[in-house]
Amino acid sequence: MREYLQFLGRGSAFTDENNSAFFTDGNELVLIDLPMSSFRKLRKYGTDTLSGISSPDITVLVTHTHGDHTGGIPTFIHYAFYILHRKVTVIAPSEEVAADLRFLAERLEGCRPEAYDLITAKEAARPWLLDVIPTRHSPELEGRCFGYRLNVNGQNVVYTGDTAVIEPFLPYLGKGSLLYSDSSAHDSAVHINVSELIEKTDGLDIQLYLMHLDDPEKIAEAASGSNALIAPLFEEHLS
Ligand SMILES: [Zn+2]
Ligand SMILES: [Zn+2]
Repeated sequence: MREYLQFLGRGSAFTDENNSAFFTDGNELVLIDLPMSSFRKLRKYGTDTLSGISSPDITVLVTHTHGDHTGGIPTFIHYAFYILHRKVTVIAPSEEVAADLRFLAERLEGCRPEAYDLITAKEAARPWLLDVIPTRHSPELEGRCFGYRLNVNGQNVVYTGDTAVIEPFLPYLGKGSLLYSDSSAHDSAVHINVSELIEKTDGLDIQLYLMHLDDPEKIAEAASGSNALIAPLFEEHLS
């Protein structure tokens, strides 16, 4: 059993390792988003090594449909079906996003219907899935971008997905919560600025983790002196 969230990548869209995280719950390996760079890591390390579970049930929880969050899902469904002989469950935050993901998996990528289950968060009824939190990110995807509040091994975890604003998540940040937030060093209309993020969460009794980094050095510089941490990569726990 591994604690809380670990990352297969923590970079923004224009980096080599796009942002995605995972945790385990019982016999389930939960992947939060799945870019192609993370699919390659899944294949390299194997789902058993990653999860510490023998043949885990595999679920992909989706925040929104940008390619750096969903690009690896169809290939992973093919891989799990043909190579691992396992069925993948994909959880969409809303019915609209579920329809978009169905188009991607079924129509564009030709995933076999028996290779995956695609359900909404409402239908999923997972004990670890507490709240779906709508947020503002890309204007073109207005109404289709979400974060989540999760119970990860008893810990209250808030995960923003990609977001331009932190306000939608603040009501979910009780004492001792872990907040994993998108953070940007460069000016961006669609991603929250790291300094603004630190300022707006300052004084809350939480642990802030920075993820979806566009410029890791500048972000580390902006975060120095605060209690914010850079989201941990899975490989850091390997040795
Ligand atoms: Zn992104
Ligand atoms: Zn995005």
